[in-house]
Amino acid sequence: MGSSQIQRVRIVIRGAVQGVGFRPFIFRLADELRLKGWVINNTQGVFIEAEGSLDVLQTFLLRIEREKPAISFIQSFEHSYLDPAGYNNFEIRESTDGAKTALILPDIATCSDCRQEIFDSANRRYRYPFTNCTNCGPRFTIIEALPYDRPRTSMRMFDMCPECAEEYHNPRDRRFHAQPNACPQCGPHLELWDATGTVACKNDEALLRAAAAVRDGLIVAVKGLGGFHLLVDAGNEPAVRRLRSRKRREEKPFALMFPSLATATEFAQVEPLEERLLLSPESPIVLLRRRACEGLAESIAPGNPFLGVMLPYTPLHHLLLQELRFPVIATSGNVSDEPICTHEQEALLRLQDIADLFLVHNRPIVRHMDDSVVRVMAGREIVLRRARGFAPLPVLLREAAPDVIAVGAHQKNAIAASVGEQVFISQHVGDLETVPAYGAFEQVLADFAELYELHPAVLACDLHPDYFSSQYARKQREVKVVAVQHHYAHVLSCMAENQIDPPALGIAWDGSGYGPDETVWGGEFLRITAEGFERFAHLRTFRLPGGEKAVKEPRRVALSILRETFGDKLTELGKLPTLAAFSGDERRLLEEMLEREIRSPRTSSAGRLFDAVASILGLRQVCRFEGQAAMELEFLTHEVATDESYAFELLDGSDGNSLDWVPMIRAIMTEIRDGFCAGVVAAKFHNTLVEMMVRVAKECGDERVVLSGGCFQNRYLTERAVMQLGNQGFRPYWHQRVPPNDGGIALGQVAAVSRARSKSKPGERQTVCA
Ligand SMILES: [Zn+2]
Ligand SMILES: [Zn+2]
Ligand SMILES: [Zn+2]
Repeated sequence: MGSSQIQRVRIVIRGAVQGVGFRPFIFRLADELRLKGWVINNTQGVFIEAEGSLDVLQTFLLRIEREKPAISFIQSFEHSYLDPAGYNNFEIRESTDGAKTALILPDIATCSDCRQEIFDSANRRYRYPFTNCTNCGPRFTIIEALPYDRPRTSMRMFDMCPECAEEYHNPRDRRFHAQPNACPQCGPHLELWDATGTVACKNDEALLRAAAAVRDGLIVAVKGLGGFHLLVDAGNEPAVRRLRSRKRREEKPFALMFPSLATATEFAQVEPLEERLLLSPESPIVLLRRRACEGLAESIAPGNPFLGVMLPYTPLHHLLLQELRFPVIATSGNVSDEPICTHEQEALLRLQDIADLFLVHNRPIVRHMDDSVVRVMAGREIVLRRARGFAPLPVLLREAAPDVIAVGAHQKNAIAASVGEQVFISQHVGDLETVPAYGAFEQVLADFAELYELHPAVLACDLHPDYFSSQYARKQREVKVVAVQHHYAHVLSCMAENQIDPPALGIAWDGSGYGPDETVWGGEFLRITAEGFERFAHLRTFRLPGGEKAVKEPRRVALSILRETFGDKLTELGKLPTLAAFSGDERRLLEEMLEREIRSPRTSSAGRLFDAVASILGLRQVCRFEGQAAMELEFLTHEVATDESYAFELLDGSDGNSLDWVPMIRAIMTEIRDGFCAGVVAAKFHNTLVEMMVRVAKECGDERVVLSGGCFQNRYLTERAVMQLGNQGFRPYWHQRVPPNDGGIALGQVAAVSRARSKSKPGERQTVCA
């Protein structure tokens, strides 16, 4: 999609944006930039649609925030690109009522007024870590019930002092009806606890001693907005290593919090869209290109050219980071894959072997909330983890869906609930591997049902019978259960947020998903029609020796791929990193498993194909975290620029067309023997995958091509697919507000039920969309 092509952006702005001259401001700005479209006010906020070229629309987005009326305040700024509607002029439209469902705002990063107050020694909130106002502060993490009013929040236990009450009741005050309003006299306060829970000190002394402990290389658990963070000096290698071993997190990158934008730019490249994100009310973790390595511990993100960066987003973080003046690791307070701790007693138990000290406070956290993760790709934002700042804002469908609760997938679980044309997506829950994670999942479901007063007749789940989320759905009586094929849900999720209808070709590439033929799918081309989907093509299948074990060991996948390519003549290939990664016995055992088809399911997984190539190149034989090998392969593409690709074949098969990668693997082996650099091979491998997409798109003929699944977190793959498909006359669509990974599955499940509605028979308890 060229940048000169006309696109439409839809913007939803929430906050103090009504009755402050916001619409005339938007009108003048749009007029100056010669954009077409409209702006409208309704009970849910200001809605804007504007059409123009991508670069002008980007300028528009950036200038709205920079030049908005001084009196206005933005609490949430969401935007999505959609197909152009063909507007002729820009107009201010009549206000409408908007959706009736009560809107719950996400937590909002500290505003500049509050920030000034906490650093002003003359202000009564000087150094007060729970300062907030109508424009900023906690929301979703303190709400117990609706409507949003102090007695129904976790602030109800704090009686406002006369001064706070005066602000709260004064319509001219910035804190008029600010539900979490508080001050040092009447609000929550800090305590520093040792590992046994004994109070060491309170208030500002607690904060100063916590900062000193971080400076000394200790691990401090800090109770924040939506849970505990573990804070460690990012420049202290031994401290970071200690955190890794205690948290049992081997190599997965840690997110960093920087004292300011200026310090972040010393360590990372920050483009204008990324700067906007860092400073936005959502204040997510933004994946940035690393600039310098000095000053940061090597083991923060070993071998990774990116850094996950965020800025302080609560007064507590501002005060701590101002004290420290250096970047810190701010990672979720949990043991490996468990959910984030929210309660101090729970944190003492679960984090006792990790944290040296606990900086806690007495404002209860009603529900857990991780930090969100966002990356800029192809000139747009793409949310990779949807939590603080975004959840539980709705995604708007083009038309109303029936009332459904979707329980999502297994990894990166999030649930969704539809109310009319709005789909509320929960905060990120995580992988449902552990008992605490499953508990968090059930809690989020109960929480959503209560908050939104949901009584749905339908529960949607994944087709995979063993996912805990699917098992939960099947256990429920009184409701109809709809099982949705995983990759179909991926594609529908992307179509729903882009507001497009069938027909379309969906390319759903990820690690794995349950196929209706009981094989493991993962390299799918699904033709989406009004009736459902057809598996139009898929990657050639191969065996996974040891099933789940192969997911963690790229060398196992590579062994299988090499045998598919070269038969049993592997020893003739000479010295290969893959083969060298096994002992003689291990390899014999695996080859026997493959030969006799024992515990070796067939898969078409694109994610595993990345693993295999990473192993063959000697990049990674065993993964320390999910997706590591594929990430490392992507990183190699940064070093080279080539448009070359490898040969492949599109074959007819009984289960749809199959893309044969055997010629590619042969060519890669030849190039390795000829001493080609790994970066070139990695780039050509990515290019080949994109050529496969283009080839199938041509075969299919549908103009719309929808890209979804975990593989499209890969920036090189996504940007190149978007460009090449666009060059060939197709319309590519990719994710924006909803993650391409399994965090987006719940939205797709809602969309699937919506589509299947017309076909199901009354009284039927189970339906399958597969
Ligand atoms: Zn504020
Ligand atoms: Zn007070
Ligand atoms: Zn998936």
